[in-house]
Amino acid sequence: MYDTIIIGAGPAGITAGIYTQRGNLETLIIHNCESALQKATKIENYYGFIDGITGDKLYFNGIKQAEKLGIDVKNEEVIKIEPCADGFKVTTNIKTYLSKSIILATGTKKKTPQIKGIKEFEGKGISYCAICDGFFYKDKTVAVIGSGSYAVSEANDLINIVSKLIILTNGAEKPQIRGDNVEINSKTIKEFVGNNKIEKVEFNDGTDLQIDGAFIAQGSADSSDFARKLGIILNDSKIKVNENMETNIKGIFACGDCIGGTLQISKAVDDGMIAGLGVIRYLKNK
Ligand SMILES: Cc1cc2nc3c(=O)[nH]c(=O)nc-3n(C[C@H](O)[C@H](O)[C@H](O)COP(=O)(O)OP(=O)(O)OC[C@H]3O[C@@H](n4cnc5c(N)ncnc54)[C@H](O)[C@@H]3O)c2cc1C
Repeated sequence: MYDTIIIGAGPAGITAGIYTQRGNLETLIIHNCESALQKATKIENYYGFIDGITGDKLYFNGIKQAEKLGIDVKNEEVIKIEPCADGFKVTTNIKTYLSKSIILATGTKKKTPQIKGIKEFEGKGISYCAICDGFFYKDKTVAVIGSGSYAVSEANDLINIVSKLIILTNGAEKPQIRGDNVEINSKTIKEFVGNNKIEKVEFNDGTDLQIDGAFIAQGSADSSDFARKLGIILNDSKIKVNENMETNIKGIFACGDCIGGTLQISKAVDDGMIAGLGVIRYLKNK
């Protein structure tokens, strides 16, 4: 069991890890190479780089620095975080890890897919959390929108509840998932249609499918997906933390862009330091 698992290897996650590792905590950092930093062509407003530095170089420098300190850094996609005896179970697309504490440093929320009807039917058939809302669709026909490991994980949480599960890949490659009640459809989605609540999904080729609900699981899980499942309080899709970067769930901390504020490296580094020190204190007093 790790003392702490940090999800994210951007400036917030790596800084948190530097502090926890140097504080003698067994630390694992998991990331899937989807940092805002990697999109920055040149950074000229961060301390210590006379001629600036590319975001990608800074990202991988951070990872190298963490590894040099002896931190385990894994390039995997986290699809689930669950409470368990003595801490938390973190499931990735590759394996499962146990930890006494968690630091979420997953960056900004990913964008909701731009499909007509999604916003309109939120709470009226459109959901973002299978484990939270799946029960409302007992014996109904439900779609999962997505095609990656996270979509498969959401689908697996629904498979034994719903009567029919349709994975809508929206043009992407078909995922590996089996079940007598599972269908995979890779047509391009035009819009969700209904009257007060969702009734069907229409495709670009003019066909449609009757559904009772749809779960959005495109791309990888982000901080708000994890928060919904763990009962972490959000403030406008940003994770709410106290002055120690601690969420309302004991043992779960968050830092960087995922808690909002000024979305800059300097602020993410500061948050990461506070979260790292917060976890050290938390485990000492536990
Ligand atoms: C185009 C652009 C230019 C920018 N320029 C500047 C600039 O010049 N100066 C500046 O100060 N800031 C700049 N920023 C902002 C800066 O990049 C961010 O504020 C900073 O990277 C936030 O750090 P973070 O650690 O919170 O998140 P991020 O750097 O976004 O890191 C998020 C981490 O979480 C991981 N992750 C997320 N979900 C999962 C999952 N399910 N499983 C596994 N890993 C996961 C990602 O792989 C990544 O490692 C820029 C941003 C952009 C987009």
